[in-house]
Amino acid sequence: MEEVICANCYTPLSPVLSACPGCGDNIIITGEQKNIIDRVQPNCLIHRYDGSDLLEPAFIIKEGKTNLKAATKLKEYAKPITVPKQKTYAFDQNILSAIQSLRNERTASIRRYDQLIQSHWQQLKPYKPKT
Ligand SMILES: [Zn+2]
Repeated sequence: MEEVICANCYTPLSPVLSACPGCGDNIIITGEQKNIIDRVQPNCLIHRYDGSDLLEPAFIIKEGKTNLKAATKLKEYAKPITVPKQKTYAFDQNILSAIQSLRNERTASIRRYDQLIQSHWQQLKPYKPKT
């Protein structure tokens, strides 16, 4: 099993133990009583990088006055990242998917233009001075 996180205190549980070393809870891996986190359960979207249009699904762990502590991957439940509140948005799967697919299309288009430009560059002949 991949690394999992205690749902109570966010201590990483790896390898899987019978009780959490952080809070002492008995670990229940499956079923209704399950108290581990084995994948990020996003409840917001965060914008981390200035100048980028990348939105990341994240889980809010703690709310401060101006900043939030959030996790975008399992590792970050124990070591959350700090995000300004004003760059955090309500989770919206439709908008996230639309932006992600447009970002992918843009990347593919840029690659195609790079290749087209390159194909012209390859036809350039070396300059030969007249003798
Ligand atoms: Zn725990």
